[in-house]
Amino acid sequence: MKFKLDTHTHTIASGHAYNTMTEMIKEAADRGLELLGITEHGPAMPGSCHEFYFQNLRAIDRTKLEEMYGIKVLLGAELNVLDEDGTLDLPDQVFEQLDVTIASLHLPCFKCRDEKDNTKAVIRAIENPFVDIIGHPDDGRLPLCYEPIVEAAKKYGKLLEMNDSSLRPGGYRMGAEENYRKMLKLCMEYEQPIVVDSDAHFILQIGSHSYAEKILTEMHFPEELVINHSVEKFLRHTRKYRQKQ
Ligand SMILES: [Zn+2]
Ligand SMILES: [Zn+2]
Repeated sequence: MKFKLDTHTHTIASGHAYNTMTEMIKEAADRGLELLGITEHGPAMPGSCHEFYFQNLRAIDRTKLEEMYGIKVLLGAELNVLDEDGTLDLPDQVFEQLDVTIASLHLPCFKCRDEKDNTKAVIRAIENPFVDIIGHPDDGRLPLCYEPIVEAAKKYGKLLEMNDSSLRPGGYRMGAEENYRKMLKLCMEYEQPIVVDSDAHFILQIGSHSYAEKILTEMHFPEELVINHSVEKFLRHTRKYRQKQ
């Protein structure tokens, strides 16, 4: 299967990533991707950008960028889920402007540690009409109950991410492989699509998918449920596209 898109990457604006936006876009195009999502961490992540950064993304002419580099570019955010009610760290009027939105639990920004509260937080984020993707639902330090999450994602037409960076040896998230196997089994049962993302914080990681692909192959995970093979199919899962329907 050809992995044509990577929707989750970070630039220097995130505070702990190392390239500029144009370096990332050029590299993604050189690597043969057809779509790149640039999704800086939300303002609650220490060192990331202020809400004004996201507001001002309208200053960037996506069409011109796409003409220059020959790749579709989505400028969005990886928002922090802050509590069990699924509160996110950008006001609705800012994040409704974004091209793509990922909502993730991150240890420095999320204080609950209990499976019930973590699961509730993720489901609330899924229910939020502005959220497109749930980022890395895989970290054993923030345990989740997968069945209600897969069920909610299916009901609301949202994507669940398989994060290649969580699976990289030496990665700091715990138990990702075991958790993904649980999640993928349910995704097969419910016919819930996933998106494989690199979560690149450096240009050399853009489009990385080999660790995820190995597990998908081993589990005989159906190709039609891996959204990365079709830009068109992916766009149908983004809010902007959904609104046009
Ligand atoms: Zn990061
Ligand atoms: Zn993240």
